[in-house]
Amino acid sequence: MTDYLFDPPEVFSLEVAGAAARYPVARIFCVGRNYAAHAAEMGNEVDREAPWYFTKQVAHAVHGGETRPYPPGTENYHHEVELALTLGAPVFRAGLKEAAAAIHGYGVALDMTRRDRQQDGKDNRRPWSLGKDVEGSAVLAPITPAKDFEPIEDKEIILTVNGETRQRARLGEMVWSCAEIVAHLSHYYHLEPGDLIMTGTPAGVGPVGPGDHLRGEIDGLAPVELTLIDAE
Ligand code: MN
Repeated sequence: MTDYLFDPPEVFSLEVAGAAARYPVARIFCVGRNYAAHAAEMGNEVDREAPWYFTKQVAHAVHGGETRPYPPGTENYHHEVELALTLGAPVFRAGLKEAAAAIHGYGVALDMTRRDRQQDGKDNRRPWSLGKDVEGSAVLAPITPAKDFEPIEDKEIILTVNGETRQRARLGEMVWSCAEIVAHLSHYYHLEPGDLIMTGTPAGVGPVGPGDHLRGEIDGLAPVELTLIDAE
């Protein structure tokens, strides 16, 4: 057995509905601006030339249902509810058909964001890490196998804060389909099982604070929940 100076982190994994084996998460990719109405509310036009991405460390992923302190370094922490997808096969330089076939499952996710720090990055042409790669900011619900969820287009995605609806859209409103995203991203990475892609948020993002209870729902998937408490 390898002798480590300290205990290495445990593998972060998600429950898969109807399966005994869990999905171990190795990498988290996130799509920017994938709903036209959200791009508009952020002051951007949707770019149909190509999807684009940022990443979150798996170390910053948490399971739905957790209670987390309000993060340091922000006064404008935002909710973004998203469809996440997982992969069941390697995908590299793939076309749409191969990409679609490689999708293993889907889950509801929250891409929690320090909007003020993301705006700093935009203003100063610097990376978004402080805005997006926040501890506890990738909140992930259990995964449902693709065959039990597809077709996805008519399914509704909703985020409520303390029971009040803040975001509501149909998955068919996504600018880039799941297969298009997987195929495109596969021209930059050797995608493989363990990768998880958060596919972007619909309009209605906004701030949350200590005491707020967030619940993200997509028809047919297990919901994701997050409770925020006072900062440490
Ligand atoms: Mn997002």
